[in-house]
Amino acid sequence: MPIQILPPQLANQIAAGEVVERPASVVKELVENCLDAGASRVDIEVERGGSKAMVIRDNGLGIAEQELPLALSRHATSKVASLEDLESILSFGFRGEALASISSVSRLTLTSRTQEQEQGWQAYAEGREMAVKLQPAAHPVGTTVQVEDLFFNTPARRRFLRADKTEFNHIDEQLRRIALAKPTVHFTLSHNGKSVRQYRPARTERQHQQRLGAICGHRFADAALAIGAGNDQLQLHGHLAIGDGHQQFNEVQYFYVNGRVVRDRLVNHALRQALELHGQRLDAGYVLHLELPPQEVDVNVHPAKHEVRFHQARYVHDFILQGLSDAVAQLVRGAPGVGEE
Ligand code: ADP
Ligand code: MG
Repeated sequence: MPIQILPPQLANQIAAGEVVERPASVVKELVENCLDAGASRVDIEVERGGSKAMVIRDNGLGIAEQELPLALSRHATSKVASLEDLESILSFGFRGEALASISSVSRLTLTSRTQEQEQGWQAYAEGREMAVKLQPAAHPVGTTVQVEDLFFNTPARRRFLRADKTEFNHIDEQLRRIALAKPTVHFTLSHNGKSVRQYRPARTERQHQQRLGAICGHRFADAALAIGAGNDQLQLHGHLAIGDGHQQFNEVQYFYVNGRVVRDRLVNHALRQALELHGQRLDAGYVLHLELPPQEVDVNVHPAKHEVRFHQARYVHDFILQGLSDAVAQLVRGAPGVGEE
C-alpha cells in the first residue's frame, strides 16, 4: 500500500482506541468536560449499561454556536494554547480529543447554549469526513451530550462490551471517583429510567460526612479519621480508616493529585510503610487528596490520564508517609472517627 493520510474519521477511531475503552470511559471524559466548564450540577442518564445511550447534561458555561464544530474536531481545545499552559494545567482536559474520538465510534449529538445566546444549537458529526451539521435546539444555558450506539461501527470493540450490569457498575464506580473529587457539585445517575445515585452538594462538615458515606459506604465514613497535613509546597487531606479484622476497608482506595484520580504505587507504598511502622494489619481504606504546584507533576503521561509523574517523587513519598504515619498513630491511639464526634 502506498503511504496515505488517514481520513479524519479513521484517525479519530484509532485515537478512540486509547481513550474510549468502554461506556464508563465515555462518562469519565464527558463529566470531566462538564466540570471544566464550571458546572455545579451534572445529570447522567444511562440506558442498557451505556451501550444503548448515555446522556450527560450540565449547567456549565456552554459552547458558542460557531465553536460547536470545533469542539467536535480533533486537537481542538479551549484549555491549552501553549506548552507553558500544559505545564501548569489544572483542568481535566487538554488533549482536545475526547469529543472527536467518541463521536467517531458512536452517534453523538452535542447541544449547548451560552449565557449570551438567545437559543441553543445542536451539532451532529457524521461520516468519513466528520462534517458537522448544525441546527437550532431548545436548551437552557449549559451543555448536553448524547451518545448512542457506542461502537456501532467498530464491531471488534462492541464485542468486548460486557453485560449491561457490569458496564453500569463501571460507570457507577467512575462517578464515585469524580464525585469524591468535586464535593460541591451535585451529581445524579440513572439507569434505564430509574434513579440510582444522587450525590448532593456538600458545604458543611455534616454534609461532607453524609456525602462521604453515600459514596464510600457509611461504615467507612464512620470509622475514618480526617487527615490534614501540609507545608508551603504540598497539602494532603482526606480520610483514612484501618480494618480491624471484622471490617475491611481496602476496597475504598482513592488517590487524587490536584483533583485528578490517579493510580500510583507511591501512595500504596507509603501506606504500607505507615501501617507496618505501627504494627497494623495491611488493610486500610483511604480517600486522599494531594495538592501541589502543577509544575511539580506531569499529567501528560497517559492518554486516559490515569498516571502522573512527580518531579520529586521521593520528597512527595516521604511527605505522604509522614502524614499517613501520623494518622495511623492517631487511629491506633483510638482517636474518634469523624462520624463519632
Ligand atoms: P478537551 O477537554 O481536552 O479540551 P474535548 O474533546 O473533551 O477536549 O472537548 C473539546 C472542547 O469542547 C473543550 O476544550 C471545550 O471547549 C468544549 N467542551 C466540551 N464539553 C463541554 C461542556 N460540557 N461544556 C462546555 N464546553 C465543552
Ligand atoms: Mg475533555
